[in-house]
Amino acid sequence: MVHSGLVKELARECGFEISGIARAVPSPDSDRYSQWVARGMAGTMGYLTDRRAHVRSDPKLLLPAVKSIICVGALYNTRAPSPEGIGNRELGWISRYAWGDDYHDVLRSGLTTLATRLQAVEPFEFKICVDTAPLLERSYARDAGLGWIGKNTCLINQPLGSWFFLGEILTSLELEPDSPPPDRCGTCTRCIDACPTEAIVPSADDYALDARLCISYFTIESRDAIPEAQRTKIGPHIFGCDICQDVCPWNRKAPFSEEPHFQPSNFAPPLEKLAHLSGEEFRLLFSGSPVIRSKYAGFLGNVAIAMGNSGAAKFRDPLEKLAKSPDPTVAEHALWALGKLNKEG
Ligand code: SF4
Repeated sequence: MVHSGLVKELARECGFEISGIARAVPSPDSDRYSQWVARGMAGTMGYLTDRRAHVRSDPKLLLPAVKSIICVGALYNTRAPSPEGIGNRELGWISRYAWGDDYHDVLRSGLTTLATRLQAVEPFEFKICVDTAPLLERSYARDAGLGWIGKNTCLINQPLGSWFFLGEILTSLELEPDSPPPDRCGTCTRCIDACPTEAIVPSADDYALDARLCISYFTIESRDAIPEAQRTKIGPHIFGCDICQDVCPWNRKAPFSEEPHFQPSNFAPPLEKLAHLSGEEFRLLFSGSPVIRSKYAGFLGNVAIAMGNSGAAKFRDPLEKLAKSPDPTVAEHALWALGKLNKEG
């Protein structure tokens, strides 16, 4: 018979550093989520606000027979330096989660192995979720004892920090649930103070992330031109941002992942090289990487802004070229960057 101890033992063997069980009932965070959507904080991310927003209210809408949610976390912290450690404004900064291979395949494969091994003990219905299914996964991970949800809205595990990918197996098995750990943010406000765009805002009972102000949203999700008032604050970020996690004291002693797929390949590429990439070269360079999500034009637009923020006069030539791009957003970002470099002399 499958029991929660066996689930955790096998989860560990399948590559997940943390795991736990949550009851498959509607999350009390559902109302908070609806309020967040109602306040417009999801920006243009339709997949968070369309009919899938309703599916998030109850895991039974994903698997009618579900009784328990097996929540797992795979550490992706690696030994590459922090942005401050690099201190070279001619390099573009990519978010830590995207330094290696796309995590979706890695997590799905580990969860499939876990489900197969559990099924060898006892058959059950299940559905694997890795980020793409409409499920309040951080809330269930917290309920499963994996960590608390910090003011930066990340799931934080007391000994291991917040550099985790999360995944779930919704299962018809009735498993002993875990309990959520206490919130250990206390009076700390480091993430709120450090966010250059002030994206962590007060909400009714806590804090919320206003995606419309988040550097990750600007550089990955949004297909619109980045608002002019935010461009300087984006600094060298060309894909995502980790500032609110880099400053979190719970990440000071975060251990490193040895998973080969998460080891860094493109963590701080030279901006000049990126500005000259053709569409085909972009796809080849970032094949199998989450960076592909920003799409070629979006990525070039981000590179242009980072060049403008670098203060390096040598970027005028590549920016002149980008300013002639047929993509209006790339051209607009490049013109802004040229203007900034010219102003700074
Ligand atoms: Fe919580 Fe401080 Fe970490 Fe923010 S930086 S998530 S307030 S502990």
